[in-house]
Amino acid sequence: MTSYDRHYYDGAWQASTVADTIDVISSATEESVARVPRGGADDVDRAVKAARRAFGSWSRTALEERAQWLEKLSAAMKTRAPQVAEAISHEVGTSLGYSTKVQAEFPIMMIAMNARFIREAKLEEEIGNSLIIKEPIGVVGCVTPWNYPLHQVVCKIAPALAAGCTVVLKPAEMAPLSAFMLAEAAHEIGLPKGVLNIVSGPGRSVGEAIVAHPDIDMMSFTGSLQAGRRIASVAGEGIKKVCLELGGKSAFVVLEDAPFDKAIPAGVNNCMQNSGQTCSAWTRMIVPRARHDEAVELAKAQLAKLTVGNPFDKNTRLGPLASAGQRDTVLGFIEQGKKEGATLVAGGGKPANLPKGFFVEPTIFANVNNAMAIAQEEIFGPVLAVIPYDTEADAVRIANDTPYGLAGGVWAGTSERALDVAKQLRTGQVDINGGRFNALAPFGGYKKSGIGREIGPLALEEFFQLKSIQR
Ligand code: NAD
Repeated sequence: MTSYDRHYYDGAWQASTVADTIDVISSATEESVARVPRGGADDVDRAVKAARRAFGSWSRTALEERAQWLEKLSAAMKTRAPQVAEAISHEVGTSLGYSTKVQAEFPIMMIAMNARFIREAKLEEEIGNSLIIKEPIGVVGCVTPWNYPLHQVVCKIAPALAAGCTVVLKPAEMAPLSAFMLAEAAHEIGLPKGVLNIVSGPGRSVGEAIVAHPDIDMMSFTGSLQAGRRIASVAGEGIKKVCLELGGKSAFVVLEDAPFDKAIPAGVNNCMQNSGQTCSAWTRMIVPRARHDEAVELAKAQLAKLTVGNPFDKNTRLGPLASAGQRDTVLGFIEQGKKEGATLVAGGGKPANLPKGFFVEPTIFANVNNAMAIAQEEIFGPVLAVIPYDTEADAVRIANDTPYGLAGGVWAGTSERALDVAKQLRTGQVDINGGRFNALAPFGGYKKSGIGREIGPLALEEFFQLKSIQR
């Protein structure tokens, strides 16, 4: 893969003020595949100042002009989709087929979708004797995680740029390459200088320097609860708006009249996508006690169909985890699950046939009690907890008994019943009876899963200020 030795800001590739680099490690080979600069607070300061200078003119461009820039950016990324997919398969371990569709093509399409959203946006409204105007909030700092690296970048920068904001982005240090490809694409199309700025480096130095910078008006962050807390408190000092997309421990509630042969495999696939490295994954499968063993058998059968292997092999469905640290964390949770008395029914260790790479066997625990650590904490790996319930009210209580509230699923005999249960879940997204992901629907968390929404036309709202003019 191509290495990058410069940050991208003020419309140019800029030497780092810190003479150090970050190795990008392939999760399947454990070897370095590229390097990116490890920046510092001075790089951030220069990038933020460039974004501030650019804000005046960018924020006043016509909506149609911004829409066209986004379409050009999407087209320039389209030619890079194979490299994006390959990079993310190395960085995250995502199988190449899934990487191509979900990690590359989908976010590239989402850039262009934001062109449509801004064209259709209504930015002025009369209320009584007031004219209410939506104006871009200013310079937006974006900090993103590694699990869907380009997707999470696009969820922030596309609506921010569409709204008329300028951006300073710090991508995840473990998966930064697609962000650099985005910078290449922006440069190639001649996006006005200072509109999109990228500085790479660690969270504690580069990330916090962005949050604390006085010229940053808003922070849009996706990542862990722990980092989200820190960012919210640093941003709070500066009275900056925050949009936080944090962790999850989502539940899939299967009611006793659901078609188990469809519901259980769908639940397993959801939990295991991207080897469980998905914030919205349904990691708790909540099933009627009387049908618990049947559900476990169906879950095991589905798991056996998900081939684990090198992300670049055609037959691979589940690749390795992104890092040694991530693998060890997941293995630690599996040990804890065993100690706490959950029944290990599949997986539970490193696959013996894959000595190289950060692999963990897809794992199922049965008879899990919702108070156990494997049911309460975000594992971020291929681990499913099957939890029995006695009544529907009990199922809803268990589903909501978590600090998080990001996503969830319900499968019932009828859509009315599923909808009734979905409405009782304290979570930002619920899919009922196999409902598909919708790229127009807002995505985000209740409770400790975050503040604010991303994706679709409503995501634009996060990047606006409201001004009331009385006449
Ligand atoms: P992380 O919080 O460790 O890191 C995320 C980003 O924040 C990285 O770029 C990191 O460098 C930076 N960072 C860390 N500490 C910081 C600080 N003090 N100040 C500024 N920046 C800082 O998370 P991760 O391990 O990269 O990602 C996994 C987490 O992300 C999981 O908890 C997952 O659920 C969450 N996530 C949430 C969503 C969502 O939409 N809700 C989507 C994907 C991932």
